[in-house]
Amino acid sequence: MWINGSGHPGSGDGREIVNPGTGATLDTTVDGTGDDVAAAVEAAAAAAPEWAATDTTKRAKILHAVADALQEQSSDIVATLVAEQGKPTLEANGEFHHMLAGLRYYADAATKVRGTYQDLPSQFGPAYGLILRRPFGVVGAIIPWNFPLTLLANKLGPALAAGNTVVAKPSETTPLSTLKVAQIATEAGLPDGVFNVVTGAGATGQALVGHPEVRRIAFTGSTATGQKLMETAGPMLKHVSLELGGSDPTIVLPDADLDGAIKNIQIGRYWNAGQVCLAPKRAFVHADVFDEFVEKLSSRIQRYEPGDGTTKPDKPHLRIGPMHTAAQRDLLVEQVADATDAGAEMVTGGHVVDGSSEGDGHFYQPGLAVNVPTDSRLATEEVFGPVLPVWSIDSLDEAIERANDTQFGLGSSIWTTDAAAIQRAVNDIDAGITWVNQLHYGYDEMPFGGTKMSGLGKEHGLEALAEYSELKSSVVGGLA
Ligand code: ADP
Repeated sequence: MWINGSGHPGSGDGREIVNPGTGATLDTTVDGTGDDVAAAVEAAAAAAPEWAATDTTKRAKILHAVADALQEQSSDIVATLVAEQGKPTLEANGEFHHMLAGLRYYADAATKVRGTYQDLPSQFGPAYGLILRRPFGVVGAIIPWNFPLTLLANKLGPALAAGNTVVAKPSETTPLSTLKVAQIATEAGLPDGVFNVVTGAGATGQALVGHPEVRRIAFTGSTATGQKLMETAGPMLKHVSLELGGSDPTIVLPDADLDGAIKNIQIGRYWNAGQVCLAPKRAFVHADVFDEFVEKLSSRIQRYEPGDGTTKPDKPHLRIGPMHTAAQRDLLVEQVADATDAGAEMVTGGHVVDGSSEGDGHFYQPGLAVNVPTDSRLATEEVFGPVLPVWSIDSLDEAIERANDTQFGLGSSIWTTDAAAIQRAVNDIDAGITWVNQLHYGYDEMPFGGTKMSGLGKEHGLEALAEYSELKSSVVGGLA
């Protein structure tokens, strides 16, 4: 753990951190107890007043210095991420640079937090109003294992820029890169106690959410865990942002740049071995181009060769890493079996890699499915792995109706050059974002967050920065 600017042993049970690509044990961490969480929150609370009072230009400078120091140690952090998460080095590099971009975006924004002025009526004497923005104090950040670094930066950047201090709890399976980031941040000049890390699983997260001094919780994870978290945070009236599950629809119309659509849907769905919240997970392709779409996409995904993230296959093969845990792989196997038992057909892949056995890494051959029953688990649940169901549609109306026929509302996309169709999709798809002829990608500049069962609140953009402070009004009288 990392508390108040130094390593903290922790008092709970030990936990082995395992490389999902090789089965090797990388390190051991300790599950944080209530006492460990309390120590981290106390350190964060003690550091909060001074950090909030620190000149914003100085806060910005320190955050940029942290990003510079991380950049200098990129190869070590990236290697740690590959080892503990399983993703290929190319993808880990992408994640690392996205983290840096996010931190720098909010470092720049630290000097731009603004309140407002309001003229007031004078019946009680002349007065004016000020609307101030004040940090919460201690923010609890709970992070999953699929993007340990970017999903940390999405919370750490705006929280620190707005003048809060942070206690982060990484996933129990990917704490090592986060601990490195915390140590480097301290060495780069972030004051002690401003950024603390407690390791551990759900019980540790629960203790963080339930600590009365934590006034703001930022969470990314599954919808089920988000609901559980609300049971604790709700009665305590905490401010909460929840980035939860998704089952993004992607719609392909006949006038689209089909090759561009195929390439970007491929990257979006199979990046990170499909373990992405904002990926295209249900494809609705117009009947006129359906066969060509399925044939071309399936031949592209046959190039994937599952394997350890540190190695590269020979061209034209592409590396896809392992599923992060055996449980994730087994869930995908169940979802696929549910669909194929009910008549779905796998055009390619969609199974555990032949010959791979327990302990060798949780490798899965990416799949593409057609004729998937709309009530099967592959269609109704979030699919957090490299399998894409594709359905044929006859009209935009049908596509939008089916796109919205889900409990989720995270992302969505449409591929077309028809301005009216674009306008329709942008207005009528129920989701936090609609990409038009673009990869499903979370830009630092654009507010991102789901509707329906996909969550509450936003990450990214100045909108997320605003969610890390509270408004306070002041009426100033006695002017005459
Ligand atoms: P995933 O399915 O991606 O693992 P989870 O929602 O289970 O997503 O986990 C996301 C994060 O939430 C992890 O850091 C996990 O340890 C933490 N977590 C799990 N259960 C709870 C809980 N009851 N309260 C707070 N945090 C939790």
